[in-house]
Amino acid sequence: MKTDNDTKRKENFRPIVGIDLGTTNSAVAYIRHGKPKIISSPSGEELIPSVVLIDTSGEVIVGKDAVAALVAMPSRTIAAIKRKMGSSDFIDIAEQKLLPHEISSLILKELKSYLDNILGEGEIEAVITVPAYFTDEQRRATKKAGELAGFIVERIINEPTAAALAFGFEHLNEDNHILVYDLGGGTFDVSVVEMMGGILEVKASTGNNYLGGEDFDWKLVDLFAQNMIDKHKIDPRNDLRGRALLKEEAEKTKILLSTRESIKVSLPIVTVKGDQPIGLEMTVYREEFIKLIDEMLLETMQSVQTVLKDSNLSRDDIDEILLVGGSTHIPRVTELIEDFFQKEPRMDIDPEEAVVLGAAVQAGIKSGVLAKDGLIVTDVAPYSMGIAVLMGWHGFAARSGGFHAIIDKNTTVPVTRSEIFSTCSDDQNAVSIEIFQGENEWSKKNHALGKFLLAGIPPNQAGEEKIKVTFRYNINGILEVSAECVSTGENMTVTVQDALERDSEEDYLDSFNRVQDLLKKAAESTDDEDDEWEGFQMMMNEMLEEMEDEDEELSLEELVEEVTALRENAKGMMKTARGKKRRLLRQVDSMLSKATLKSNIEELQTVINKATDILIDLESEEI
Ligand code: ADP
Ligand code: MG
Repeated sequence: MKTDNDTKRKENFRPIVGIDLGTTNSAVAYIRHGKPKIISSPSGEELIPSVVLIDTSGEVIVGKDAVAALVAMPSRTIAAIKRKMGSSDFIDIAEQKLLPHEISSLILKELKSYLDNILGEGEIEAVITVPAYFTDEQRRATKKAGELAGFIVERIINEPTAAALAFGFEHLNEDNHILVYDLGGGTFDVSVVEMMGGILEVKASTGNNYLGGEDFDWKLVDLFAQNMIDKHKIDPRNDLRGRALLKEEAEKTKILLSTRESIKVSLPIVTVKGDQPIGLEMTVYREEFIKLIDEMLLETMQSVQTVLKDSNLSRDDIDEILLVGGSTHIPRVTELIEDFFQKEPRMDIDPEEAVVLGAAVQAGIKSGVLAKDGLIVTDVAPYSMGIAVLMGWHGFAARSGGFHAIIDKNTTVPVTRSEIFSTCSDDQNAVSIEIFQGENEWSKKNHALGKFLLAGIPPNQAGEEKIKVTFRYNINGILEVSAECVSTGENMTVTVQDALERDSEEDYLDSFNRVQDLLKKAAESTDDEDDEWEGFQMMMNEMLEEMEDEDEELSLEELVEEVTALRENAKGMMKTARGKKRRLLRQVDSMLSKATLKSNIEELQTVINKATDILIDLESEEI
């Protein structure tokens, strides 16, 4: 029987929610009546496409309505932003510049609005998932995105771990070794989890932050483009809309090829040549598609072997294989897994829902609503973390730039490890602590996390002063480093985390203001701007009507125009590019500028094709 108090408690109860912020789809869930339940959008969808549109009136639209705009308004729409998470390069969207985590916060705000409908407005505690292989920066960025959206980010957990939790929740009394293979839209993760007496222990994790369904789509885009280049001597990828249209068609084709052996692709207009519409007409066979992506799939199987080795298990020790992520619908994936393990993967947990359901289970454990079920999970650090061994460090490598791990890969977290180092020159009064994560013996080859200087070491002989370096890797996979001069004691401690947090407070305010401005503008704006989509459709219709069937060669003049357009493209990209990317863009620009001095159509076309390829690779971050 329920008492009044129970009801009251229920009314005030604000659950901790679990969020899967995916490259392709996002979702939110929490424990209701003892089970994880996905909260759907007002129109009933459980998975929301992670696509953001800022429409011509400045309104922010997230989800399936934004997907349609990927082709219609490519410059106002962003998909797969998770692939850029943690980067400090601004993204151009609707003539504004936003950071990746700011765009992600718009997706999270959308999910929050579904919760607000049920729970009433206000802050909500959340567990957000990230690929196990996400770096420190990517995790911080995810946390920031959550905070910007109005969540209190209680915990960041690894996606494969969440998926294992979703499974573990349903199979509490089993003792198993589970392999979680998560191939989504943008990332690949694989983990081995041991389940015993309700305790889930992640043994090892590995993966690739840049491998997923998106890459398979782009392979098909290239196939389509090549067909059009062969037939019409025009590369449709030069045209922002053409490119978006092919990408959309590629994903559709890919998904259909999971259940069919071949697909006829037919698009009447992809791009224009002169004022001729150019379309695409071809049949794609599953076998052909698999050939295009097989190298990537085989790479995932390499990771499977690595993760088994790292967890000291053989393939026969694995009792259950969980397939997670939309890309595991590709039959070739199941085939590779079955061949390797000689076992069928589990099919009872929906690959697209496992992560968010598991995040909700973790949130339920955290808030106490699931405590009595006794499910506990421990995770591991997916990378080694340590410091650069500088010239001058005593006691190990004599070369500079070596990497010395303080926390080894696959150590159970949370973990704190300290090591003592000593000064290497007489009267040395400062040391620089440079922090990296990765497995290479050279720090330069690993991922830099930050550095700081510990000054004020008292004058002494080389080797006499000891420096204690402490790494604390917390349960969210976020690292704190401190260094202490042993002889002078604790007041010499410097924590990287503090320094980073001071910075990030300012960054946070900047981000907050940018997102607020954006939303304010949307509220104030009027609707009288031209609708880009309608304009585009009208143009296409006109062209269809006028369509004549002669396949004209491009004139020199037209090619020069193309060069100009490409140069503008390159210059636009240069605004946000840094380092190697920027240098490459500059080279492309100068290559194009030189090409205009040529009067040979073929040569010009070759330069155009080459420049286009580079620009596309740069844009899709392959370089
Ligand atoms: P994420 O975790 O990246 O948000 P999901 O797990 O939702 O991604 O998977 C999305 C990816 O799965 C996309 O690249 C999508 O095209 C792909 N996908 C979805 N269904 C299928 C299918 N039936 N066959 C092949 N790929 C699919
Ligand atoms: Mg996912």
